[in-house]
Amino acid sequence: MIDFDELIDKYIKKEHKPKGIGRYYPSEAGQCQRKVWYSYKYPSEIDPSLRKIFEMGNIIHDFVVQVLKSEKTPQVELLKSEFPFKEQIEDFMISGRIDNLIKVKLNNKIFLVEVKSTGSIKFIKEPPPHNTQQLQLYMHFIGIHNGLLVYIDKTNLKTKVFNIEYNKNDALKIIERFKILHSLLKNNILPKPEAKINGTEWMCRYCEYENRCQNNLS
Ligand code: SF4
Repeated sequence: MIDFDELIDKYIKKEHKPKGIGRYYPSEAGQCQRKVWYSYKYPSEIDPSLRKIFEMGNIIHDFVVQVLKSEKTPQVELLKSEFPFKEQIEDFMISGRIDNLIKVKLNNKIFLVEVKSTGSIKFIKEPPPHNTQQLQLYMHFIGIHNGLLVYIDKTNLKTKVFNIEYNKNDALKIIERFKILHSLLKNNILPKPEAKINGTEWMCRYCEYENRCQNNLS
C-alpha cells in the first residue's frame, strides 16, 4: 500500500535554511517579538503538520490567482502575483518573496490583495491586527495604498473581504518594531513574552519555543 502522507511530506519538504540576524521577513511583522527572536537564536525545522497547513495556504492562494486571471472574471484584472521584496533600513534588511499578495485592477483602482486561508470565516469578525500590520508594511514599501484582506474558508471556499486603508503611522510603527528586534538580537536581550501580555495568547499554541519562554530562557 502507498503511504500518501509520506509522499506529501516528502513533496513539500524544503531545505532548512537558518535565518541570519540582520535580514528580516515581512511575515514576522505581527508575530510575537519573543518568538521571532527565538527563531533567529534557535532556528528549528518547521513541524511537518504545520508545513502542511502552510501548503494549504499556498494552494488556496494559487486558486485565487486562477480565479482573478480567468476570462470568466473580466471585472478584475490580475496585474501581478509574486513580489520579490528588498528594503534596506539602517544596518538591516527586510526582504523575501511575498507570495500571498496579489495586485489587481478593480474599477480602475489598483489594490494589493492579501489572501489568508482559514478554518472557518464564521469566526472572522474583524481582521486580526497581525494581518493588517503585515499589509500596512507591504502597502508602505510597495507604494500601493489600497489594500484588501481576503479570508477564504478552507472547508467551503466562502470569503470575507476587508478594505484596509493605508496608514503611514502604522507602517512606521512596524518598521520601528523591526529596529527594536534587530537591536535586541544584536545585544542578546530577550524580548518580553509579547503574546502572553498583549492578549494574543492563542499564538503560544503554535509556538515551538513555549518551554523556553515559560522559563524566560534566553
Ligand atoms: S510562548 Fe507565546 S509569548 Fe512565548 S515566545 Fe511563544 S508566542 Fe511568544
